[in-house]
Amino acid sequence: MPSNEGPNVLEAMPRVLVIGGSYAGLAATVNLLDLCNGKEPRFTSTSTMGESFEAKLPVDITIVDERDGYYHLIGNPLAFASDDAACKSWRRFQDIPALKLPNVHFVQGSVATVDCEKKTASILDTVTKQLRHEKYDYLLVASGLRRASPVVPQATNRDQFIAEAKTQTKAIRDAKEGVVVIGGGAVGIEMASEIKVVEPWQRVTLIHSRDNLLSAEPLPNDFKERSLEALKEIGVDVILGQRVVETTAVHADDGHASWRLTLSGGQQVMAGHVITAISRSIPTSAYLPSVALDKDGYVKIDACLRFNVNVPNADSHFAAGDIASWSGIKRCGGAMHMGHYCAINIHQDMLKHRYGHMPTYKELSEFPNIMGLAVGKKAVVYDSASGTASGEDLMTSYFGDDLANSICWNYMKLGQAAAV
Ligand SMILES: Cc1cc2nc3c(=O)[nH]c(=O)nc-3n(C[C@H](O)[C@H](O)[C@H](O)COP(=O)(O)OP(=O)(O)OC[C@H]3O[C@@H](n4cnc5c(N)ncnc54)[C@H](O)[C@@H]3O)c2cc1C
Repeated sequence: MPSNEGPNVLEAMPRVLVIGGSYAGLAATVNLLDLCNGKEPRFTSTSTMGESFEAKLPVDITIVDERDGYYHLIGNPLAFASDDAACKSWRRFQDIPALKLPNVHFVQGSVATVDCEKKTASILDTVTKQLRHEKYDYLLVASGLRRASPVVPQATNRDQFIAEAKTQTKAIRDAKEGVVVIGGGAVGIEMASEIKVVEPWQRVTLIHSRDNLLSAEPLPNDFKERSLEALKEIGVDVILGQRVVETTAVHADDGHASWRLTLSGGQQVMAGHVITAISRSIPTSAYLPSVALDKDGYVKIDACLRFNVNVPNADSHFAAGDIASWSGIKRCGGAMHMGHYCAINIHQDMLKHRYGHMPTYKELSEFPNIMGLAVGKKAVVYDSASGTASGEDLMTSYFGDDLANSICWNYMKLGQAAAV
């Protein structure tokens, strides 16, 4: 019994605007498409459903992203070491089978402002270079964190990305005096490790200013020590407790350039290529009203992933992934889980407005601190239930042989053609 009256009745075709087409945004999109198609959401096992989702609902989804495609970000340490991996890491949205639907649209552009009262986003369109205004019924904010090069590529289209990755891989191959990675956080460890995996002959040195790797992470010491052991096992030289205080370019007579790094303890290290993996990550939330944000710029959400009640129309605004203020170390698995729950909650809300259905919203639990690192052929893993572990079997289950590119792609079923 569709309702056609009342102040909350949505348009015939509810418009969902998704800002950010990565793990959180795409997980929300594909699960919402399933639900609106009268099916179980693909991330939900039958045993945990407990609800009937049989009614089909019209929906119109627009994904806006600064990039022209989905980039497998967690594989970046491999993509910047291997040309082959780079080619498989970036898929244009238009080439993703699961998204080839008449009611799914893409805008390549950067969201400049969002008016939550008017439910309108202003987007600087990359193609037209003009501001365009997208109206929406539901907004999902999933634009993650802004990170510097080379922790993440700065390219916004696939061709630029392939060129950017090739610049990195060439610099690694050409580095006669070896490669130095500065910063022993998760990204620095994986970058050093992947270079050694792809170019085993290359000398790789990781320099970290503190006495322990992963010093900023809320993780136990045995995990940090196991990560150090694993790096040493694959032949990465690790220098701890020293800052790089000076970097000087050295030009040989043949025009070949290298770098002399002076460390705080006075030691000097030569490098043919230097990678700075000290990532200061900043939420990309500047387009939102400040009332939606915490003091660090993360989007304040409740357990149903909705904006806080001081934001106008908070009920129709959701945030998921790294940009959301939630517990736990920021992870791709968490981002996809949040996207999944956003899809269910948006769908429940649509059913409420259209059919007067009593909604059952999914609520997020607190996220424990979990980390998995790919180091050589092994993964080093910590979770609060089983503590620290490492091994090749864990590498297979956490990362496969492509730093989890296939795992994420298959989990979201992005390669499966969508049912029209
Ligand atoms: C090098 C590296 C390795 C990592 N390894 C792991 C790992 O092994 N395991 C793990 O679980 N996690 C890992 N992480 C963390 C993981 O990548 C993040 O938790 C995850 O990417 C969060 O997904 P997201 O969808 O929230 O945001 P993102 O993946 O950051 O995607 C945000 C999207 O929004 C777009 N965007 C940003 N601003 C705007 C705007 N204003 N307008 C339009 N579009 C915008 C971006 O272009 C991007 O496509 C790693 C991170 C890095 C950097």
